Amino acid sequence: MAIATINPATGETLATFEPLTDEALEEKIARADRAFASYRTTSPQERSGWLSAAADVLEADTDSVAELMTTEMGKTLASAKAEVGKCATALRWYAERGPAFLEPEEKDAGAVGAQRAYVVHQPLGVVLAIMPWNFPLWQAMRFAAPALMAGNVGLLKHASNVPQTALYMEELFRKAGFPDDVFQTLLIGSSTVEKVLRDDRVVAATLTGSGPAGQSVAAIAGDALKKTVLELGGSDPFIVMPSAHLDRAAEVATTARNQNNGQSCIAAKRFFVHRDVAEEFTRLFAEKIGALTVGDPMAEDTQVGPLATESGVQDVEDYVADARAKGATVAVGGQRLDRPGWFYAPTLLTGVTPEMKVHSEEVFGPVAALYSVDSLDEAIRIANSHVYGLGSNLWSEDEDERAQFVRDIASGMAFINGMTASYPELPFGGIKQSGYGRELTGVGMREFMNAKTVWVG
Ligand code: NDP
Repeated sequence: MAIATINPATGETLATFEPLTDEALEEKIARADRAFASYRTTSPQERSGWLSAAADVLEADTDSVAELMTTEMGKTLASAKAEVGKCATALRWYAERGPAFLEPEEKDAGAVGAQRAYVVHQPLGVVLAIMPWNFPLWQAMRFAAPALMAGNVGLLKHASNVPQTALYMEELFRKAGFPDDVFQTLLIGSSTVEKVLRDDRVVAATLTGSGPAGQSVAAIAGDALKKTVLELGGSDPFIVMPSAHLDRAAEVATTARNQNNGQSCIAAKRFFVHRDVAEEFTRLFAEKIGALTVGDPMAEDTQVGPLATESGVQDVEDYVADARAKGATVAVGGQRLDRPGWFYAPTLLTGVTPEMKVHSEEVFGPVAALYSVDSLDEAIRIANSHVYGLGSNLWSEDEDERAQFVRDIASGMAFINGMTASYPELPFGGIKQSGYGRELTGVGMREFMNAKTVWVG
């Protein structure tokens, strides 16, 4: 894939970039390695100060960086601004809470025959982050903020369609006053990732993206015995039981499916609705989806913009055609918009069955797949038959149903009466083919740290 900014709202190529030469790449890795040698000895308080400064710089740059993201991948300007705000919040959260995660943990010295026994958490080194375009700033920030707080050094290989946002990330940390080269962007294609990953100076990698990309990175890292964290796809279930507040559930379902123009790993994608309330819920859901304003992502009132890439909109067309051919009904939407750019109408498919690809794969676009079920057991059974296990949602006022859902749903995250979201305060990640490891909070920060046992006799 060429490294380029192509406006998804028009299809126009606005800027292209040459990938780094071998010499330039070597120079960047050498700089990262040198930076780690001194950065690892900086104090948590110093790192905190730089993270806070980065939050201030980012907030001051809100308008320009939000416009950049909208131009590169089509998210609405309002959601781009919200994404910038969320990144600033995460930077401040790690600035405030990070030092506590780095405190030594005292253990029971007497039990191990020592005067003192404790664990120190130390940074690992240069970590490669391979990131996707869908939340171009947030995905990279939720790696960068904890990694830099930990004392690690970051190399960012961002998706090839968001090069300017990627370059901004490097500039942000420089402007915030971090020591030179602790966070660098590598403009490289995915075929160059192996070379970086095998380099002895790179100690670990994190990837957010598709299954095939995750398999490739995990295989290489496994061969080189390097730690990885993978955050891959999702096809989150959204289960609606008879006791649910239906209008509120339909409202949140509409947002959960269509946020970010339908391109989020934690978007609710499969909606399991109890037969007793299926007709009413479907009516409400279709009405709300049909009322969404689709259009120019730069316009203030737009709720859904274009898909990020041309192949993305073609994939969505194929999924809907497959579902229709196998008996699904289009309750609303169901076609590409007749205008330049890569727009697809927010869509609701009913009568979805496990034979359809919208059930078994991940639809990365604004298409909701609705199933009618007879019980919570049936909803959970079909939901769990998927290869993914990222987030999950239940709408119910019944305590027993909530307890059953938390116990039985195969997912990394379970949200009740709300939509899945990421917060610095909560661990984020999945099971099964949605990946492994966790991001955010203290758990995410320690993924790339050495928990060193210290025994003093
Ligand atoms: P990819 O997985 O192809 O891209 C994500 C990142 O991985 C990009 O930086 C990409 O670089 C890089 N990459 C791709 N292939 C490899 C590889 N073999 N080795 C190393 N790095 C690689 O995602 P796409 O953007 O193509 O989206 C396809 C699907 O991925 C979506 O339909 C969705 O299912 C899933 N996805 C999931 C996301 C999530 O948040 N979990 C986010 C985005 C996508 P480059 O851009 O240069 O190819």
